[in-house]
Amino acid sequence: MRTSLFTEFKESTALARTDTALTGQLLRHYKTAALLPPRRGLCRSTCVALAWNIQQARVVFRQDPSLIRGVISAAPCANALAAWGDREQHWIVVTQGLMTELRDAAEMHAARLPAAFPAAFATAPGRQLLAATPLQGFDTMLGALLYFGAMSFVASHELGHHLAGHDAYFRAPAHHARWEVPHALERQADAIGVGAALLSVSKLLRRFFTATALLPSEREEQQTLIAIVFTAGVLTMAARLVPAAFDFNAAQSPNAYRMLKIAATLMRPLRSLMLLDDAGRKWIRLKCLEIVLGPPLPAQDAFHLRGMQQALHAPAFHAYMTQLDAGFRLFKDKLSESP
Ligand SMILES: [Zn+2]
Repeated sequence: MRTSLFTEFKESTALARTDTALTGQLLRHYKTAALLPPRRGLCRSTCVALAWNIQQARVVFRQDPSLIRGVISAAPCANALAAWGDREQHWIVVTQGLMTELRDAAEMHAARLPAAFPAAFATAPGRQLLAATPLQGFDTMLGALLYFGAMSFVASHELGHHLAGHDAYFRAPAHHARWEVPHALERQADAIGVGAALLSVSKLLRRFFTATALLPSEREEQQTLIAIVFTAGVLTMAARLVPAAFDFNAAQSPNAYRMLKIAATLMRPLRSLMLLDDAGRKWIRLKCLEIVLGPPLPAQDAFHLRGMQQALHAPAFHAYMTQLDAGFRLFKDKLSESP
């Protein structure tokens, strides 16, 4: 299983080098067409996260699953990309800069997790995660797990642009005139991203947990840890997102809105963890926001935990989400058909 993932990634990298449409986009966005082989270290662990999410997306591309492929760019900037190549190839690209930035953030946030959730990490599966041997390129297994969640969200967000037919938008810059259209499409890609990230995190964590004859209390412990790793992982990515353009309300920080949108979106897939109640899921989200945002600063009121909690229920936020829905309806007919 592992060998085939890397073999395929090697093939994708070789194929990407002959794809002139992709090369053109790499040069335009990153000023380099250089790609990294997934041989060892962080690249190898990243390749696993990308490949797991690509495999999930391929279920939709039944006719020709190999149309969806992923590569790692050697660019130093922190970025990810959905790109359309020659021969209708659907590419997702993550950069070396993003890998290292996310790895550092994941390790930093992982170090804060056990203190934020002492009961969860005192359980048998919690202690197992803390003691596990890290994946290649990481100091701790918990850091690797948060990275895996964050990178799964990135990969599946980009795959979401492909799956939802957003190429029609990206190839037609005339539609950029209305702010709510790109934001609506980003929201749709985020929703696909969080759903797939939870599946990937659950799949990875279940490898650590005892699968047989579980008591309901043990299953609840496992689901709590899955929810914590997933939420902290996705929010690790969300906390560093800065949209290229965002001006509908200059009084609000763009980061705060993007964070809020993702924090709101991730509650839906979490409902699949049936043994956690709504209050439990919201508590995990709140603690994870605290971890990724750090201690509140007076100048960052919108990021303040209490502010964030209030903002999630504020009429302005709901009006914004309603505008995004309207923006999506405006553009819906122009999207490419799903494969
Ligand atoms: Zn996007």
